[in-house]
Amino acid sequence: MLYSEVLEEISRELPLFENSSDRDSFLKETVGKIKRAINADMAAVFIQDDGKGDLVLRAGVDSDGVWDHLNCPDCTDTDKPFRFSFDLNDAGRAFNEGRVIRRTYPSGDADHGFRSKIIVPLARGPMRLGVLIIADFREDAFDDLDDGEILSSSSRLADLIEDASVLISHEVKANGTRIIQGRKAGSGIAMGRALPFWADMESAAQTISPASSKEEELARFDRSLERSIRQLKEIRQKAEEGISETGAMIFMAQILMLRDESFTGMMREAIEKGDTATTAIRRVVTDYADRFSQMAEERLAEKSQDVRDLGYRMITNLASGESREFSYEGRIALARHIYPSDLFRLSLEGISGVVLMGAAATAHISILAGSLGLPVLITEDKALLGIPDGTQLILDGDGHRLYVEPAEDLLEEYRLKLSLVSPSPDYYTLKGATADGTAVKVMANVNILKDAEEARKQGAEGIGLYRSEFPFILKNDILSEEQQYKVYRSVVETQKGKPVVLRTADIGGDKILQGREDQESNPFLGVRGIRFSLAHKEMFRDQLRAMLRAGVNADLGIMLPMVSGVEEVLEAREQIEKAASDLHQRGVAYNPHPRIGAMVEIPSAALAVQELASHVDFLSIGTNDLTMYLLAVDRTNENLSHLYSSRHPTILRAINHIVHGAQKSGTKVSVCGDAAADPVLTPFFVGIGIRELSVSPHTIESIKKRLAAINLEDAETIAKEMLAIGRIDEMETYLKENTERLALGELTIR
Ligand code: PEP
Ligand code: MG
Repeated sequence: MLYSEVLEEISRELPLFENSSDRDSFLKETVGKIKRAINADMAAVFIQDDGKGDLVLRAGVDSDGVWDHLNCPDCTDTDKPFRFSFDLNDAGRAFNEGRVIRRTYPSGDADHGFRSKIIVPLARGPMRLGVLIIADFREDAFDDLDDGEILSSSSRLADLIEDASVLISHEVKANGTRIIQGRKAGSGIAMGRALPFWADMESAAQTISPASSKEEELARFDRSLERSIRQLKEIRQKAEEGISETGAMIFMAQILMLRDESFTGMMREAIEKGDTATTAIRRVVTDYADRFSQMAEERLAEKSQDVRDLGYRMITNLASGESREFSYEGRIALARHIYPSDLFRLSLEGISGVVLMGAAATAHISILAGSLGLPVLITEDKALLGIPDGTQLILDGDGHRLYVEPAEDLLEEYRLKLSLVSPSPDYYTLKGATADGTAVKVMANVNILKDAEEARKQGAEGIGLYRSEFPFILKNDILSEEQQYKVYRSVVETQKGKPVVLRTADIGGDKILQGREDQESNPFLGVRGIRFSLAHKEMFRDQLRAMLRAGVNADLGIMLPMVSGVEEVLEAREQIEKAASDLHQRGVAYNPHPRIGAMVEIPSAALAVQELASHVDFLSIGTNDLTMYLLAVDRTNENLSHLYSSRHPTILRAINHIVHGAQKSGTKVSVCGDAAADPVLTPFFVGIGIRELSVSPHTIESIKKRLAAINLEDAETIAKEMLAIGRIDEMETYLKENTERLALGELTIR
């Protein structure tokens, strides 16, 4: 049985451990199974000792039997667990550097005579847990284990150890802690107090007692208004100074509403007639919110949540004393439905996490949660609806659960986990190149401004894809030329002269701008990307003018999404020329010579690549959509995810066809879909002649390392071999073997 299969079996058996009293017996069984599965002579798990740094033996097994931290071959003092101090050895190095370390000892290691050893870090997302050490008396014992596979299986092992510790120890220790299960839409951990969105204004109102007189009610109303405006201005300021694009605009709309005399005037009038300030705010807000929610246009209907939100802020601010001032900080929002714009705003206001009821999340919620670094959980458990405002919660996105009223020891454990999350290191400098010096640029895919900053820190060689529909989606509205210009200029400035490719809005498909499109029965085959832009030319030219202005004194590329043929490129070029001439007439500074590119992500564009290439300055292969349209598999359909693979021979042949077509007319071609960050495909891309990849900021360093481990000649051989394969199962087998050959150094010059 393979290591990965053993882990699957253990995960199926996990519920059987629910009644066990300690995690160590679970670990002992697990290492025993791993040792048997890979036919090794020894396996042991070391877990980091509660934040003290040392790696402590928790369970091990060798031919003499099972041992634990007080009873093992290396235990000299039977009162103390066997531990590795942190940085002096292979275990510490594997743990710190997050990589697999292999060792061979031709005449046996000094302690036990092992001739081969493999040390594997156990990590769960950014959280490091410990290491797994496997050893054998044979020298070539682990040659058939692939580093990549063992690393991914080991993160599964880390999950299992954590799940087991929750099931085993906390069901017992947490006395009274309720667990709500769900699925992850955003990684990470959040600790905080519940903020139920279905009861917000009402529950806040219950905590406010009436004032002694009408004058006092009016005075506290004015104070609340002034506080609410001040708070929103502060957040807006933060959004402007920080790395947020539409945030400032979103908060401005709320400020304007509070300044609107007809809105607050109705509240004041009601107080003068004898209502308490709480009742007055509730009435007017509910009335406005209801009117918005009845509007046919969804974009306006959505504003009802903004109004309720204002009501909640104002009522909370009615309470006297600074400590009761309204704040989202340290709160975990519980909501039925959320728009990407809400998620973005809540994140800017310092929310710690979000739990959603029902299957409300679109692909954008997950993409955005990832970019914002916000833990988000989606649950079907109706118990969520009964959680009162202010309840203590722990949200564990990667653990797929929410703890309600966690016991103190669980809180303590999660505090420790949060303190162990290692911040990503800053400022990498490695250049993208193969081991023998062939330059392959590694650029960044950017969705929100925060990604652009991150891209620079991670050593991106520019931005290969900026998804300009994001500001629209975040604001859930169209932005003016001026507003767009500010956002794009900020993106361009983060790169300090490096190339920036701004893609025109890819609205439609799964990137829905609520209320903007006509309902289509098949939006992926509907008015999407360049079709949407060419159907809304005024809007398109606003965007193009904003892009041309943002590209002043910069290396600017403008890229067209979802192009199906040359005609669309020619029409779009006409619009670009018109936009430039508008700016010229207005006497506004702009970039007169942007490079114009097209995405190749529709089969017709892939087949007509030569014609397309002769009308653009560059092409970029969007493997996400190309895979979807070539295989006829919806990229967002979880039930079909086993059929959606960019490693499919057909996709790889199509990519090769595109590259060759582009090369014939000397047009540069890059890859910017998710496949660009698949390390298993890196040799293929290099081998067929790709010299530019664009990936999400957090994968830049790993792709550069991958490039540095291969040489051009090997990559060309691999690509040729891959192109001869016609079946997906054969391709997967080939990729696995090939990755092993690379890992073993058979294919590289190092
Ligand atoms: C793609 O389709 O591969 C791509 C990069 O575009 P998006 O994911 O934004 O559709
Ligand atoms: Mg696409």
